[in-house]
Amino acid sequence: MKNAVLSLERATFRFKDAKKSSYAFKDVSFSLAEKEFVSIIGPSGAGKSTLLRAIAGVIFLTSGTVVKNFKKPAMIFQGHGIFPWLTALDNAAFGLFMEGMPKQARQKRAREKMKEVGLAGLEERYPHQLSGGQRQRVAIARAIAIEPDLLLMDEPFASLDSLTSTSLKKDILELWERYKMSVLMVNHIIADAVELSDRVIIFSKEPGTIRKIETIELPRPRDTRSKDFFLVADRLTGMIEN
Ligand code: ADP
Ligand code: MG
Repeated sequence: MKNAVLSLERATFRFKDAKKSSYAFKDVSFSLAEKEFVSIIGPSGAGKSTLLRAIAGVIFLTSGTVVKNFKKPAMIFQGHGIFPWLTALDNAAFGLFMEGMPKQARQKRAREKMKEVGLAGLEERYPHQLSGGQRQRVAIARAIAIEPDLLLMDEPFASLDSLTSTSLKKDILELWERYKMSVLMVNHIIADAVELSDRVIIFSKEPGTIRKIETIELPRPRDTRSKDFFLVADRLTGMIEN
């Protein structure tokens, strides 16, 4: 693929413990283009989170290769992973802190990003004083604050009510368009993947591997209530079930 920010070639990860070893994922090959939005959908336990962690460089492959042409990845972990002992603002500024940006500058940037995701006024709150959707938005503010060229998201809508997840999806699409970044999102809701993605990677389990990669041809902005949308979502559902 031309302009790939990420290319995996037969990427494989095996957990080893004393008694047995098992594949989290096996022989996974795909590329992600610049500014492309790709979703990975598949059942729980298929190795999706482990795959994202390998791409982010938190763990290393057992075999195969990951070619990384991106400069600055940001990852939103499953369950958002913000720190309970930091205020929303300090959480949003955390990536910038890690980059060594001076305090005033990083707080200014973090405030701007919080505003962009609808969190103005909540800077001094701690995570336990925020709703689930607001905490997820703090995680998004932290990710975009470093202005990444690749955004990795692990189940960003899990455990959110449907209204909150609808508004979050809208925000994520806007940010994706504004920042022109590549996005790789793990998800298990087919309709969300169809609504957001250029391509959808369908994973199956034991071992986690790619069953199919589907290009979503629907024009944007996508009408989730149109007949065409329903047909695409239905086709993907059929692929997962068979
Ligand atoms: P998903 O995100 O698709 O639900 P995961 O990547 O979390 O899947 O897990 C993939 C598989 O690897 C699961 O069967 C899980 O039980 C197993 N697994 C996850 N972490 C470990 C670990 N640290 N040691 C051994 N097995 C693990
Ligand atoms: Mg997972």
